[in-house]
Amino acid sequence: MSEAVLSMSGLHKRFGALQATHDVSLDLRAGEIHALIGPNGAGKSTLIAQIAGSLRPDAGQIHLGQRDITALGVARRARLGLGRSFQVSCLAEPLSVLRNVMIGAQALQGHSFRFWRPVSRDRSLLEPAYEALERMHLAHRADTPVAALSHGERRQVEVACALVLEPRALLLDEPMAGLGPEGSARLTELLETLKREVPILLIEHDMDAVFRLADRISVLVAGSVIAHGDSAAIRRDPRVRDAYLGD
Ligand code: ADP
Ligand code: MG
Repeated sequence: MSEAVLSMSGLHKRFGALQATHDVSLDLRAGEIHALIGPNGAGKSTLIAQIAGSLRPDAGQIHLGQRDITALGVARRARLGLGRSFQVSCLAEPLSVLRNVMIGAQALQGHSFRFWRPVSRDRSLLEPAYEALERMHLAHRADTPVAALSHGERRQVEVACALVLEPRALLLDEPMAGLGPEGSARLTELLETLKREVPILLIEHDMDAVFRLADRISVLVAGSVIAHGDSAAIRRDPRVRDAYLGD
């Protein structure tokens, strides 16, 4: 089995009386999609925030490759190769697709989020941004304002933003949310190809997409991982059916 690109052990996070993350340990290996599923409020986004660095765990460690990144901020982690997209979109509607990807890359690098000055100066981002769009099959939309895109294309742009920095691991929080069957199918296909280059920790409610994409699945309920395995094992796990799949 391949080495972990990203790993966390014994993560705990409490909000007042609520134990949002309880002793979570999991990893992400080269070439795979590891899906994190669970009911609303299970703590999935809270876990992603701790991995990305916007939320500090109360206890536990996070490693990117061999490096302990637990104490590092968001921008440092991004520069070290942690890519992410957000549950809530943060694209700038009037600007072109290409410019959005350049801004996204700058924001991830830790530069301040200013629209005009730094981007127009930073030609070094132009080529990587265009390449990232090509990888998400969106190069033909480079000059289109984001406002004119379909919902699915926006998701592709968001993933492209994360790809510009050549991440070693990618965190995606509900990329299929709000997409119709066609958009989901296209994104599923793109992620299936992408995972060969960059492993993906995927939070997703669309179980068709999860069962098709995931090499491994961890099930989070009330902050704890209650089950872990491949799609077949998770599908037939009675605890998972009770807690989440509900059939
Ligand atoms: P999921 O993404 O699995 O739906 P979340 O990680 O968003 O779940 O939330 C897990 C739990 O933690 C929820 O009960 C939520 O209300 C709570 N929570 C999340 N963020 C905060 C916060 N900043 N302060 C207090 N409670 C929070
Ligand atoms: Mg969430």
